Amino acid sequence: MSGRRRKKAIPDGYTAACKAYRFRAYPALPQLIFFHRNFGCARKVYNLILADNTEKHGKDEDWDGEYDQHTPAEYKGRFPYLKEADSFALLNAQLDAENAFVNHRKNPGHFGFPNFRAKHFSRKSYTTNIVRYKRKEKDTEGNEVLIETANIELSGNYLKLPKAGWLKLRMHRQIPADAAIKSVTVTEEPSGAVYVSILTERIERIRKGFYEEISEEAEAAKAKPPKPFRMLRVAGLDYSSPHFFVSSDGYAADMPHWFRLSEEKLAIEQQKLSRKVPYSSNYLKQKKRIARLHEHIAAQRRDWQEKEALKLAERYDVISVEDIDYKGMAGSLKLGKSTNDNGFGQFLSILDRKLKAKGGVLIRISRWEPTTKTCQCGYVNPDVKLGMQTITCPACGRTYDRDRNAAMNILKAGVKILLEEIENRGTHGVRLTGEIPAGSSIFLCVA
Ligand SMILES: [Zn+2]
Repeated sequence: MSGRRRKKAIPDGYTAACKAYRFRAYPALPQLIFFHRNFGCARKVYNLILADNTEKHGKDEDWDGEYDQHTPAEYKGRFPYLKEADSFALLNAQLDAENAFVNHRKNPGHFGFPNFRAKHFSRKSYTTNIVRYKRKEKDTEGNEVLIETANIELSGNYLKLPKAGWLKLRMHRQIPADAAIKSVTVTEEPSGAVYVSILTERIERIRKGFYEEISEEAEAAKAKPPKPFRMLRVAGLDYSSPHFFVSSDGYAADMPHWFRLSEEKLAIEQQKLSRKVPYSSNYLKQKKRIARLHEHIAAQRRDWQEKEALKLAERYDVISVEDIDYKGMAGSLKLGKSTNDNGFGQFLSILDRKLKAKGGVLIRISRWEPTTKTCQCGYVNPDVKLGMQTITCPACGRTYDRDRNAAMNILKAGVKILLEEIENRGTHGVRLTGEIPAGSSIFLCVA
């Protein structure tokens, strides 16, 4: 996969799509030592560039807005050990420092003045880039031949990295054969687990957006009368603290029981930590155990969310969700921990990605719609309070589940946005047939 270099122009209708693949790595001891040195050297270069700049141009409010470019080579005389590091790791640290200043200049409200990277509180990672070159070799008959090779290569379960050699990976998934490696980031998590993230580039056909496809179908329908309908499977999702989400079809996505077990285990291990003498060797060991468990839980959650999102993306074309400020919600409603930890925001971005890949769309509706208080009959009930699961409507007398009702209202609001959006794109005569949200499908008449 590292063989061919792509300099050719990308054909029309295609694009270079980047995708990262993350694998667990099992470095041998010398490799681990090399990684630790590299993390340190990259951090050193970053800090040196930061120090030289703040000395000359001031820092925080006193910064004069200037940035001097420094290269790692300037520091190798004073710090000869930098020569042992992967030079791309140092170059990328230089680029990081530059970006930190540029970002701060562009948007000081969002990006604070660059900070020094402390040994124990910064992320242990470095990035290295691929270089492809030709090497002369002799074939079996003694003739010289040029072999295409690269400083980074994948072969079986092994990844070759500059100066580190062949690193063992657990390849839980395949990288497509036509994806070209661009760079690799090596990271050590607080638990001590090492991961590599392989960034690849692949020439892919540009997928049309959901609305563009609908517009094209409408155009085609005008020219040729048949096939005027497109069935869209739609759903609304309401974030629910105990269930993660409830759909307008009444499906409640409960976190699996093993997730609870992991969380209970974490609580026990944290209790154990509190009984240990701070910074004793047992304390540090326990800390590492907890870090490992945290990573395990995060991986479990992500895995489960990916699977739930895939199921939804396969089942529906259009999914409507409420654009809630979850941070604000966690603070104000004392749902604190579970709201934050569930990572509904992360779930929505996964869902968005999966829907797009299948030609669907995720619609975010305003968080100020009274989705919980409105009954399907249209009555807005001011007496609905947080914590009420079942609600009886005083206007129509129906009793319903609060979360599912909210999901149905989110679906209604989403469909409204969907229709407006399609109209705005010049698709005339869009009409909805059927009742929403009686079922999970609607017919969209585009003729
Ligand atoms: Zn009602």
